[in-house]
Amino acid sequence: MQFFSRFVVLIVLVGFSSLLRAGDQPNILFIFTDDHCEQALSAYDDTRIATPNLDRIANDGMKFTRCYVTNGICGPSRAVIQTGKYSHLNGFIRNGNTFDGSQQTFPKLMRGAGYETAVIGKWHLKSTPQGFDYFDVLVGQGPYYNPPMIHGGIEAKGTQRSHTGYTTDIIKDKALAWLKESRDPEKPFMLMFQHKAPHRNWQPGPKYLNWLDDVTIPEPETLFDDYSNRASAAANQTMTIKEHLTPVDLKLVAPTNLDPYQLEVWNKAYHKKNLDYLSRRDSMTEKEVIQWKYQRYVKDYLRCVKSVDDSVGEVLDYLKAEGLEENTLVIYSSDQGWYLGEHGWFDKRWMYEESLTTPLLAKWPGVIEAGTTNDSIVSNLDFAETFLDAAGVDVPADMQGESLVPLFKGETPGDWRSSFYYHYYEFPGAHSVARHFGVTDGSHKLIHYYHLDEWELFDLEADPEELNSVYGTSDYAGKEAELKAELDRLREYYKVPEDPMPQPGEFDRKPKGKKGKKKAA
Ligand code: CA
Repeated sequence: MQFFSRFVVLIVLVGFSSLLRAGDQPNILFIFTDDHCEQALSAYDDTRIATPNLDRIANDGMKFTRCYVTNGICGPSRAVIQTGKYSHLNGFIRNGNTFDGSQQTFPKLMRGAGYETAVIGKWHLKSTPQGFDYFDVLVGQGPYYNPPMIHGGIEAKGTQRSHTGYTTDIIKDKALAWLKESRDPEKPFMLMFQHKAPHRNWQPGPKYLNWLDDVTIPEPETLFDDYSNRASAAANQTMTIKEHLTPVDLKLVAPTNLDPYQLEVWNKAYHKKNLDYLSRRDSMTEKEVIQWKYQRYVKDYLRCVKSVDDSVGEVLDYLKAEGLEENTLVIYSSDQGWYLGEHGWFDKRWMYEESLTTPLLAKWPGVIEAGTTNDSIVSNLDFAETFLDAAGVDVPADMQGESLVPLFKGETPGDWRSSFYYHYYEFPGAHSVARHFGVTDGSHKLIHYYHLDEWELFDLEADPEELNSVYGTSDYAGKEAELKAELDRLREYYKVPEDPMPQPGEFDRKPKGKKGKKKAA
């Protein structure tokens, strides 16, 4: 009898503790990619690709349609997510900076609350990851094939290992191995599962090298944009499909780090296609060459996304098979959006919609209603706060975003943000996109290229492709004044310092066509 009552107490305690876990400390699986835009994710846009596995997250959960990044470039976005703070406060304003890992980050706070934390895949913050029980990350940007990676943890210094294979598959295998074999099943986990793909230069995996060969991807309406009716910045970048894709980008030359077998498979896929193009190129019009480059570029990008989608499917299947699905918050996002030929571009950086907006999907059974959509203005600034709130950890007052947990529950607070501040710093820099900051309320957008002393104002409802700035026009004088006041308010609210004056010559634009111009493909 005594044994029986002890047994009952034990059962009740075990039951209570698992109830506590379920209610207070869900597992968190953060699935992250680099440069993946909504135009290549079928939950948002199914005109180019089907991504059935990523769509599972949307179908079982919530799709956010206005997730804006604070600074649309790789490293800075990651630093914002670690800290819940804008770039000017976390100190990582542009690629090439080194993240100060000694500062407060959400993984450290989650560890303190009993979570086991891990990051596997692309890190790209230069300094060694801190706050993770385990890390196994690409060295820097990382190649698409045969990546060196550094693994370590709280106590262990990083040790480098080499790998053979396709990076997307390797990162997925490592994430699954950690989930299956390494983590402590007694603790809730927070895993950042972070792909390099589909970052430039879009090298597909062996499985998809010939996928899409026989289809034509639709062209965006702005593929031949002439950059008129806007500030001078749009015309002066170096990120056009027409001029700035290199022979490596276009797969006219093979990657240099493939092993003999990989190279054979690669050449088998591209050699004939390349010969066909090169034999016709001299007789093609300029427009036809751009159209060919567009197809080559976008197909390779989509091929990379396809492998990401497969990898997500395998990890979601594992959660389901292990009974972890019910108590795991799964988030999918990317570090920013991307241009799939819109405005004639590849790359990101701008406050224009395609790169300002990033995908955000969230699935949490019992909390998020399946198949829901949320149009509120949310941000990568909110991710840290969301993870902490979901875990029942107090959100520090100096974090600048807001928890999305109420939105997950369908209870968007009445005072939720109705405008958003953006700031891009990386000029001079890759692709020569001028520094700018701005504000959007979701229907209008004001952008200030402050070193050029030029402005743009877009009416996103009348001009969703942002082709005609209405800045300085009488019809929009009221909106312009309203957004300028809002910009001032947000800069104060987010503690943005007055921008340093440029050093003499620092922001002079390099003359076009001289140093650094890549050989035309
Ligand atoms: Ca990126």
